[in-house]
Amino acid sequence: MSIQTSDSSSSDYSKALSLIAAHSHISGLGLDEHLQPKASSQGMVGQSQARRAAGIILKMVQNGTIAGRAVLIAGPPSTGKTALAMGLSQSLGQDVPFTAIAGSEIFSLELSKTEALTQAFRKSIGVKIKEETEMIEGEVVEIQIDKSITGGHKQGKLTIKTTDMETIYELGSKMIEGLTKEKVLAGDVISIDKASGKITKLGRSFARSRDYDAMGAETRFVQCPEGELQKRKSVVHTVSLHEIDVINSRTQGFLALFTGDTGEIRSEVRDQINTKVAEWKEEGKADIVPGVLFIDEVHMLDIECFSFINRALEDEFAPIVVMATNRGISKTRGTNYKSPHGVPLDLLDRSIIITTQNYNEQEIKTILSIRAQEEEVEIASDGLDLMTKIGTETSLRYASNLISVSQQIAQKRKSNTVEVVDIKRAYLLFLDSSRSVKFVQEHQPNYID
Ligand code: ATP
Repeated sequence: MSIQTSDSSSSDYSKALSLIAAHSHISGLGLDEHLQPKASSQGMVGQSQARRAAGIILKMVQNGTIAGRAVLIAGPPSTGKTALAMGLSQSLGQDVPFTAIAGSEIFSLELSKTEALTQAFRKSIGVKIKEETEMIEGEVVEIQIDKSITGGHKQGKLTIKTTDMETIYELGSKMIEGLTKEKVLAGDVISIDKASGKITKLGRSFARSRDYDAMGAETRFVQCPEGELQKRKSVVHTVSLHEIDVINSRTQGFLALFTGDTGEIRSEVRDQINTKVAEWKEEGKADIVPGVLFIDEVHMLDIECFSFINRALEDEFAPIVVMATNRGISKTRGTNYKSPHGVPLDLLDRSIIITTQNYNEQEIKTILSIRAQEEEVEIASDGLDLMTKIGTETSLRYASNLISVSQQIAQKRKSNTVEVVDIKRAYLLFLDSSRSVKFVQEHQPNYID
């Protein structure tokens, strides 16, 4: 079976698109070179224990010594569990796959739970493929342009022969555009990537008798000097196992990569791909890059999903699984048993657990001011104090949400600066969770039970 892979330009390790807005101020874990957390760096504030722990995990992922393990980030709501995972993802860089899902996403009508999890796992495993490309370097000996290129119309067929006489490229009109701009001339040394048709000019090897102007010319022959030919160059591109699955799945086809509508992939396809990838690895043609699968609200998973994760962690190709939860002792879904964070004990047992703590006032203030800057909202200094107070009494997330709401209110009274009055109004208009609960309790008779 010949297995197709896509190139890295189409690969998207879905860096948690839906989560980015709330965490757009985070660009890393904010650690120094000794992996010690700086007080406020890369958008990250406080939570030093957890960040230090995340730094160690980062190193282990980079050293390839952590695949197949689980990390559980546990802590009260709005204490930066997701932010921590995002910081980890940013620090890993583009080549390490990072997939983020919320526990509840696993349950859908289109995919079974295990299929959804399998896809999430396989999205988080990169295959770095070393490929000999069809990149050919050689000296341009002959450029032939067909006669239809007249009157400034850059269309038609252009043929380039290089010193590698077997190699004759026929390029479409699009390339001619680039060529004339770049002025590729007979005697130039170029490389051509056959797949993309991209021409790179590498220099000149000898002085031409006459400059060659591609526009309007017909055929010119230039004597071919002895030229060094470097025929093949190797390139490396990284794709995820899931992408290889989709591309090779007859029922889906590669377009599904863009629509996300991949449906269920047959297990035979995956088996064949696993065998092939293992072969490539053996032959030194590919490396496996275990990435990170982040599962937020992991307590939403049920016992079958947890068993699946337990098994999948032992798989030959396994990413590191980072889970987050804000639950204390609670029932594991699908059972009558209670366990810490609703996560079964056998999975807890194999997890490294990081805890996050509630923020102090100063930390909340710094985070809110970073968020305000990120959202380009100017807040008066007493306004920021009030927001901080609201943040300490309700939650960081609620206070954070008030930033843009207060700005809308400020703009209504034609002010560019958010003042205390705007925040007070926003606070009265939008309830935080505890006032919402109180409101519902007071108005219970008006609601449908
Ligand atoms: P939940 O349990 O409710 O899912 P969480 O622990 O995942 O919450 P986050 O969503 O990470 O909390 O945090 C809430 C908001 O505060 C986000 O906008 C996040 O980016 C920001 N935030 C949290 N902690 C930090 C931090 N240490 N530094 C900077 N920003 C932070």
